[in-house]
Amino acid sequence: MDPPATYRCRNCQTPIAYRDELLSKSYMVVVDPFGIQAKTGQAFLFSDARNIVFGQKQETNLITGVYTIASIFCSNCGEELGWKYLQASEARQKFKEGKFILELSKISKHF
Ligand SMILES: [Zn+2]
Repeated sequence: MDPPATYRCRNCQTPIAYRDELLSKSYMVVVDPFGIQAKTGQAFLFSDARNIVFGQKQETNLITGVYTIASIFCSNCGEELGWKYLQASEARQKFKEGKFILELSKISKHF
């Protein structure tokens, strides 16, 4: 049996998430341009992630509302990979709580 496809840190190839943890590919990262992490790009939503360390908790304005998030970093090389949603202000966004955003530019898929 083939091992499951993994999404790995593009920098050091540490496995971060598995294919069956991928919830959505339709995310765009558009963080508050006046905030500290102005950037845009495609991102994936995952139900779980491993081999990561968390940065400081912070509030951030995304298109869909205000969230409390924590940046996530590769535990091996320290590269910033995305963030975890800790809390969502909008009731219809609550499903994102506890889930992980990985930026496509920071991960690569391995089969
Ligand atoms: Zn890494």
